[in-house]
Amino acid sequence: MDAPADPVVAVVGAGISGAACARALSEAGVQVRVLDRGRAPGGRMASRTISGRPVDLGASYFTAREAAFVAVVDDWTARGLARPWTDGFHLATPAGLGDRSSGPLRYGAPRGLRSLVADLLSGLDVVADRTVRRVGSARTGDGTVVDGEAYDAVVLALPDPQAEPLLDPALAAELAAVRERTWEPVLAVAAGWEARGWGDLDGCFVEGSPELAFVADDGRRRGDGAPVLVAHSTPEHAAQHLADPTAGGPALVAATSHVLGISDPPSWTHVQRWTYARPSVPREMPFHLGDARVGLCGDGWGPPRVETAWSSGTQLGRELARRLLGLP
Ligand SMILES: Cc1cc2nc3c(=O)[nH]c(=O)nc-3n(C[C@H](O)[C@H](O)[C@H](O)COP(=O)(O)OP(=O)(O)OC[C@H]3O[C@@H](n4cnc5c(N)ncnc54)[C@H](O)[C@@H]3O)c2cc1C
Repeated sequence: MDAPADPVVAVVGAGISGAACARALSEAGVQVRVLDRGRAPGGRMASRTISGRPVDLGASYFTAREAAFVAVVDDWTARGLARPWTDGFHLATPAGLGDRSSGPLRYGAPRGLRSLVADLLSGLDVVADRTVRRVGSARTGDGTVVDGEAYDAVVLALPDPQAEPLLDPALAAELAAVRERTWEPVLAVAAGWEARGWGDLDGCFVEGSPELAFVADDGRRRGDGAPVLVAHSTPEHAAQHLADPTAGGPALVAATSHVLGISDPPSWTHVQRWTYARPSVPREMPFHLGDARVGLCGDGWGPPRVETAWSSGTQLGRELARRLLGLP
């Protein structure tokens, strides 16, 4: 008689939560295949090469509080993939720049935050350019079906509004979980100058602006000193420009230049739309895993940040492996 086949799990989404989940499953001895609609992994830890260097257009930085994630970050740092960036940003209003305020240590990545997700996925089976359309329960026995392919379980490591349309109507508990909340949009604008024409700062949070919420100095966070800024919009400004994000860029560049006292126009700009940047309200549970063997994880499962997404994916991966392998 043949031995039972090893369980195989499909992870939909190659952002950091999907990558962390896949790694946890693989380390526990479960076969895993990661499917992502993008050309490269990373999701909202997105880096794009502009003017010959990577620019972070999604997450600006990450923090590390939990011991398990600190260990991962220490390893990235030792290998030169991550670098401690700053513990302080300035505060600003539309009237101008205020004081610097200290907070947790923020990390950047010399090759872009995307490179960290790629590192988590190294050696795993990752299928790029693969848009998943339907996830359902198997008609007979345990397991799930992803676009007609049978797996022992599936993980959706996506923002809720991207997970919802994939779920078969029979997956009532999963549909209820992802329909709980709305998500907010953000526009990110990267802008480059010939020379650095602003003061001594790593970034600033902006209060009271209708357009601008945050500005990061991309040269300082990457460590190459390039005269590049990345501005993030308010959700309200993004919502007005979702259909034509490029049209929302000039107001963000103008607000950034005003706040930082930059007189020259940038030599280039690039606008990135994030329709689902972050959930409006965080949840308390770290992931969802019901009887249907469809797991849900990501930054929607806790305070919406990189560390939450890593932790959510890792915890779901370990629990799913435990159930699939019949471990105590
Ligand atoms: C503008 C912005 C600024 C941010 N700033 C910070 C910050 O400073 N610090 C911080 O800690 N966090 C920040 N965040 C949040 C951080 O980026 C996220 O918490 C984290 O990257 C989420 O990872 P994830 O794996 O949960 O989701 P995602 O990164 O969104 O990954 C989901 C993946 O699923 C794929 N996908 C979607 N639909 C399908 C489908 N049908 N089929 C196949 N694949 C699909 C996508 O291509 C994507 O790769 C920011 C986010 C944004 C947008």
